[in-house]
Amino acid sequence: MISLDLSGKKALVMGVANARSLGWAIAEQLLAAGARVAFSYQGERLRPELEKLTKDYSGVLLRQADATSEDDLTALFAAIKAEFGQLDAVVHAIGFAPREAMEGRFLDTTAADWNTTLSVSAYSLVSMCRHAEPLLTEGSSVISLTYHASQKVVPKYNVMGVAKAALEAATRYLAAEMGAKGVRVNTISAGPMRTIAARSIPGFSTMYDQAAKAAPLGRNATSQEVGKLGLFLLSDLASGITGQVVYVDAGSSVMAMKMDN
Ligand code: NAD
Repeated sequence: MISLDLSGKKALVMGVANARSLGWAIAEQLLAAGARVAFSYQGERLRPELEKLTKDYSGVLLRQADATSEDDLTALFAAIKAEFGQLDAVVHAIGFAPREAMEGRFLDTTAADWNTTLSVSAYSLVSMCRHAEPLLTEGSSVISLTYHASQKVVPKYNVMGVAKAALEAATRYLAAEMGAKGVRVNTISAGPMRTIAARSIPGFSTMYDQAAKAAPLGRNATSQEVGKLGLFLLSDLASGITGQVVYVDAGSSVMAMKMDN
């Protein structure tokens, strides 16, 4: 049996809102493997939930940072430098699109909604990596979370599909540049999961049920399975993998259609 020991390793997870968050599913695996974990959260109203989730773990660092604020990112990484000195693993679990951009037609996407969605959901990966770069060790690993609507049209996903396409392309460009310092950058393409972010997608429940029916495994992947893939990609077991979009969706993305038997 292979068990991962990340004791002595330092990680940052950005984007945990509650116990259902995919960022938390990955953080739980990192903590169980012995890593020391820093968490950043968007606004102070989220802090009590994070305090509750992390109360049994020692050495945890909690820090507010809006991912679109250069000042917040500067302060966050200064705090991590002071407390941890280095980073071996970084998790970007952040996404946002204004609700109206997902309710109407893609054709009607406003420039403001386009810019907000791509700034929060894609550009923030680039700025996060730039701020993290001085702290990243040789062999360290960065991951983010994407969705198959980057590749195929998913009704109502609209500008968020474009943001995920940008996130996946950014992953390849970041991997190409950061590889010289031994840093790997990958993104996990997760199937639908019941989280706060998912609740803002119109028709999510139908999408969730249809993905399960279409999947070769006959179900949706779980957030624990996202967590395990995250741990693998952040560990030395994945030392040869970078620039990739790695799916954990019970196989639903490989199906062009499902025939009823
Ligand atoms: P979630 O709501 O639990 O997490 C989203 C997080 O993004 C929240 O913690 C929120 O505070 C944070 N965030 C939003 N704007 C921010 C900002 N400006 N600065 C800092 N943080 C900000 O939902 P989730 O589903 O766990 O989402 C995590 C990631 O997983 C997202 O990138 C999402 O697109 C992706 N994803 C989700 C699913 C799904 O079905 N839930 C599937 C594939 C990919």
